[in-house]
Amino acid sequence: MTMAARRARGEERRASISRAWIIACALVVLGLVGGAAFDPRPERPVVRRAGYRVLEADFHMHTTYSDGTLSPLTLVRQADRRGLDAVGVTEHNTVLAGRLARAWSELTGGPIVIPGEEVTTGGYHLIAVGLETTVSPDQPIEGVVADIHAQGGVAIGAHPVKRFQPGLAPVRAELDGVELMHPIAFATRNPDWRWLDLLTYYEETTPRPAAIGSSDYHFASILGLCRTLVFVHEPASAGAVVEAIRARRTVVLDPDGRLLGHPELVALLEREPYVPRSSDYAYRGENAADRALRLLGLAGVAGVAFLRVRPRRRGEAKAGAGPAP
Ligand SMILES: [Zn+2]
Ligand SMILES: [Zn+2]
Repeated sequence: MTMAARRARGEERRASISRAWIIACALVVLGLVGGAAFDPRPERPVVRRAGYRVLEADFHMHTTYSDGTLSPLTLVRQADRRGLDAVGVTEHNTVLAGRLARAWSELTGGPIVIPGEEVTTGGYHLIAVGLETTVSPDQPIEGVVADIHAQGGVAIGAHPVKRFQPGLAPVRAELDGVELMHPIAFATRNPDWRWLDLLTYYEETTPRPAAIGSSDYHFASILGLCRTLVFVHEPASAGAVVEAIRARRTVVLDPDGRLLGHPELVALLEREPYVPRSSDYAYRGENAADRALRLLGLAGVAGVAFLRVRPRRRGEAKAGAGPAP
């Protein structure tokens, strides 16, 4: 094969790869359009029990501000998809992500967002919900809890596995809530993170704190996997949710469907069961068009990733085009 023929064949191949790459880009766009068009927004029906409005809430989640994968804005949208009525956005040692998420949710009609913080130290993690300014972790834990309460917030013992219990000990009786449901109730790779320790810690804390179920969301699709049913005074608002936690009016379901929390409210839900909104954690698409567009979009992503668009080397274009007339 002559040099000129080899060049011509190379040009042809590059042109066909470029065409395929453009088609792959178009498929990605198609997938994105399909995803946006069929994005579910579940109904959030108003439910009342014993004169209270019952809200489904998740009070522990992270964003790209630290080790989460969703921005404060997309986190709000994801909470909406999960049918959550109220969320506490609790970034490690800063309240800024929560305030951003609240502003975005108010603008877009999303769930009630309550800014908060996960006060994070080597010895303990403490969820603060209902903050406006960041509480410093660089002080004794008594000062942390006093600062949270001074802002009108509530302090929740985060995933109190054995390792964190000594750190929480000085303020155990002042905790407004304790996380007794956490994704480790379903699966954990770390033998030191035992769900039963959370349950025991909650049951042995006096006075009995509010029962809290949280997803400690960082990534993947578990936002809202563990929820807290909160019984709030109307109108439902961030302040009403914080007041309900302070008054211990919460109930949590464990993996076996057992109700834990405020004894009278547990008895009430045993008489009049409440089924939390179902959330499709193995999302398979809304309909056939959604599923087809998703597959095309994924094919496009693979195409964009694996088809290499090779830029022409200098001089190649001239050589391929032949001599000017
Ligand atoms: Zn933590
Ligand atoms: Zn966390």
